[in-house]
Amino acid sequence: MSSTTFALSPIVAGLWRITDWRLSVAERVRWIEQALELGITSFDHADIYGNYQAEGQFGEALKAAPALRQHMQLITKCGIRLRSEKMPYRVNYYDSSAGYVRAQVEQSLRNLHTDQLDLVLIHRPDYLMDAAELADTFTTLTREGKVAYWGVSNHSASQFALLHQHHALLTNQLELSPLQMDALDDGTLDQAQQLSARPMIWSPLGGGRLFTSDDEQAQRVRAEMTAIAERYGISLTTLAFAWVLRHPSRPHPITGTGRIEGLRDAVAALDVKLDVEDWYAIWTSSKGHSVP
Ligand code: NAP
Repeated sequence: MSSTTFALSPIVAGLWRITDWRLSVAERVRWIEQALELGITSFDHADIYGNYQAEGQFGEALKAAPALRQHMQLITKCGIRLRSEKMPYRVNYYDSSAGYVRAQVEQSLRNLHTDQLDLVLIHRPDYLMDAAELADTFTTLTREGKVAYWGVSNHSASQFALLHQHHALLTNQLELSPLQMDALDDGTLDQAQQLSARPMIWSPLGGGRLFTSDDEQAQRVRAEMTAIAERYGISLTTLAFAWVLRHPSRPHPITGTGRIEGLRDAVAALDVKLDVEDWYAIWTSSKGHSVP
């Protein structure tokens, strides 16, 4: 990551779905230990995950096994005000105001039982974002020792540039998979490469649709990838991660699996060097047509 010694692990574990996993606190501790053993030391959260409950579930594990904290990087996000029973907003909306970002950062610190968050991302681009004001908020919370580094997620290249001009951003967390390739064309990955700001990649398996979806695109991609994976002697998951990792912006894919085997398949991609023709064969199956 740009001009600092701070680094995320090559594969990041995402906790969006942790509340679905129904793990006891001891099982959550064991899950984290096993991820760390696989070299996955970065954990991706958001304030709103699991209807605002996900961070707390991970935090309970850190409270039970506090020694784990020093071996990991904690990432979280804020900025989405999501309607819920406890938060009965009239609509879902984005809020990057100083008061809200501070409140959510402080809540994440409590949820995760930690003194400092390694990286905090603005989850979605707030149309009413005042970039200079938000940069001041970043600086203040960093000075207070609450957040080490800042970034964004789902921001266009121009939205990233606007905020980056006021405060250094470490990363843009973007969606990319063989089923969702917009980032290849919309300028965000070009910008990441230009600035050496390694992107984080969410839903590298299309949120599981690579395996489960019956739509035409998914069927085409699955057929092509299954044949390629067989040739390499790897799983479909490993191939999907290798496809993402092949991009020159040096992305950090985020796995969303609750299964240790799923983590292992993701990490295995670090040893795969995907042939360019295979990379483009997957691209072609996704688009349903050849490159022009
Ligand atoms: P993903 O890896 O694309 O999808 C994970 C899902 O695929 C899980 O439900 C998993 O179930 C399922 N899956 C994996 N292997 C499977 C198989 N062989 N057969 C059937 N299902 C399979 O990632 P994601 O969870 O969508 O996203 C990853 C992380 O990115 C999230 O945890 C979150 O941290 C982050 N994220 C960020 C944003 C953003 O806006 N910034 C948005 C979405 C996600 P199992 O648990 O059974 O493996």
